[in-house]
Amino acid sequence: MPKNNLKELYVDELRDIYDAEKQLIKALPEMAKAATSEELRSGFEEHLEQTKEHARRLEQIFSELGEKPTGKKCKAMQGLVAEGSEMIDDDFEGEVKDAGLISAAQRVEHYEIAAYGTVRNFASVLGEQNAVSLLEKTLNEEKETDEKLTELSDGINSEAASYESEEEETERPTSHSKAKAARSSR
Ligand code: FE
Ligand code: FE
Repeated sequence: MPKNNLKELYVDELRDIYDAEKQLIKALPEMAKAATSEELRSGFEEHLEQTKEHARRLEQIFSELGEKPTGKKCKAMQGLVAEGSEMIDDDFEGEVKDAGLISAAQRVEHYEIAAYGTVRNFASVLGEQNAVSLLEKTLNEEKETDEKLTELSDGINSEAASYESEEEETERPTSHSKAKAARSSR
């Protein structure tokens, strides 16, 4: 059977992003655990709660459509989560690791922003008003998360940059712990 209507594509893409959210619900606690910065950790934890709500909103949209949310694997999110895991397992430390975690997380948010922007527009042209407002709420939360990560990265990136130069300048074995102590006393 040929699939030739936008509604089918809409449902397909909703299933894709639903699977993406489910993958993230599993991945975000690991990202939080790997974070050094308390703010970054609580940012991931906060976004985990939002992500659960994103999945619930999609379930509501599916139930209004009389469709099942399952049946699709989001391959893009599998790749993004795999890259996040690579960063978690990598030997980078402290703020440098945090900068890498932010990098992975922002790729995820940008993917979600693209996906939600598209399904929101599909819902709009299909006249699914309730879905439009639910999808828009999620879209805005993804954008806010991305902006928060950018703000966090400001401080974390400069910490990460100074960490490296401190280590290069002083070749004494104690430089690492001194730098750490100096930072935490600020
Ligand atoms: Fe989400
Ligand atoms: Fe998100």
